[in-house]
Amino acid sequence: MRKHYIILPALCLTALFAQGQQIKKTEVKRILSVLAADDMEGRETFKPGAEKAAVFLEKEFAAAGLQPLKGDNDFRQSFFQYDTKPLRQDLILNGQPVSSSRVFVTGVETHINWNQDSKVEKAVIAAGDSFENKLRELKRSTMPTIVWVDQAHNEKFGMYIKAVQQHGAGKQDSTAAVAFVLKTADDGEFDSWSLEAKQEVTRLPLCNIAGMIPGTGKPEEYVIFSGHYDHIGFQKPVEQDSIANGADDDASGVTAVLLLARYFMAHPPVRSILFVAFTGEEIGGYGSRYFSRQLDPEKIIAMFNIEMIGKESKFGKNSAFITGYERSNFGEILGKNLAASKFRFHPDPYPEQQLFYRSDNATLARLGVPAHTISTTQIDKDELYHSVNDEIETLDLDNITSIIQAIATSARSIVDGKDTPTRIDKSTVTQR
Ligand SMILES: [Zn+2]
Repeated sequence: MRKHYIILPALCLTALFAQGQQIKKTEVKRILSVLAADDMEGRETFKPGAEKAAVFLEKEFAAAGLQPLKGDNDFRQSFFQYDTKPLRQDLILNGQPVSSSRVFVTGVETHINWNQDSKVEKAVIAAGDSFENKLRELKRSTMPTIVWVDQAHNEKFGMYIKAVQQHGAGKQDSTAAVAFVLKTADDGEFDSWSLEAKQEVTRLPLCNIAGMIPGTGKPEEYVIFSGHYDHIGFQKPVEQDSIANGADDDASGVTAVLLLARYFMAHPPVRSILFVAFTGEEIGGYGSRYFSRQLDPEKIIAMFNIEMIGKESKFGKNSAFITGYERSNFGEILGKNLAASKFRFHPDPYPEQQLFYRSDNATLARLGVPAHTISTTQIDKDELYHSVNDEIETLDLDNITSIIQAIATSARSIVDGKDTPTRIDKSTVTQR
């Protein structure tokens, strides 16, 4: 009998060890070397380097044996960003033409022709509202909308319109036209208005790379593993190197996503798993915003977003931290699954850096999903962050490998439907 006591745990440990070992350092090195190579030119969104990375990821997703997301034929989740330039904006109020300095139209309709009978939503930016917040919120309207702006915001509105005329309205991802009209004291109540606007629209294509493993028992419940493949492209040269390779940020996270995909193909999950490499993170989280809009957040059980796991965390080897740790019991569950190992997940040690909001987990967290980012970055003192020296040579490949192994083990009870993390309280998450 005693022998069994010795042999059984040894067998179990060996089995666990063997499972973890499927995530190999040689593979970590192979994938990182491709994504962080100079010929990827820093993987800047909209640029050839990002496209090259996308093609590589598609091949890797196929080689891993993933399936496209439901309704898709391949791994490329394509969408557009739009650059717009106002050409003409004519507003008539009670029969009188109004200066174009009081009108600002966003959205990607090239031609709008509305009057008071048109089917458009009506909104206001009232005197007591925060102009910036309301503007940001309303610019994302998905329905054609006319917004009457209270004259209390006269100055800010004028400054904003000037900035748009000089620099353009910035990249947009909403297709609905939204017209902002400043109301003045002289306007009084008007019983008729009409608006005609023309703008030049440029479509800019971009894509996430996404695939899935259908769950064996609870296929309608989803767990997400994600990282972002875009980076910041060319930067000011340092010793003749101008390519920001983004090895840590976030080739390391995307490497984890690919290896976790292979791992879970070999160890099929009960819940479905979605694997995503996001685009557009560095320029505003466009990829994760688009991705999130395609899903029902209620069906998403958890998101493991992985950002910058290339170096030792401030807690040393066998450790990483989780952003927004206290917002759900996600971290506790991961910790429980790792109790038999040396690896520990810690709460984010840099709350003042707002890392919870600075990565692709934020969009789904705002919808209540336990969506957290796992990282090891020492963001307060990492001089290579967003520099041309974020290269593979500066990363600790053994450490990356052990972190990916730990993530695989820590996720087991969640992907197998035994544990369901508590939801994030939406009301405590700052909306944009
Ligand atoms: Zn990043």
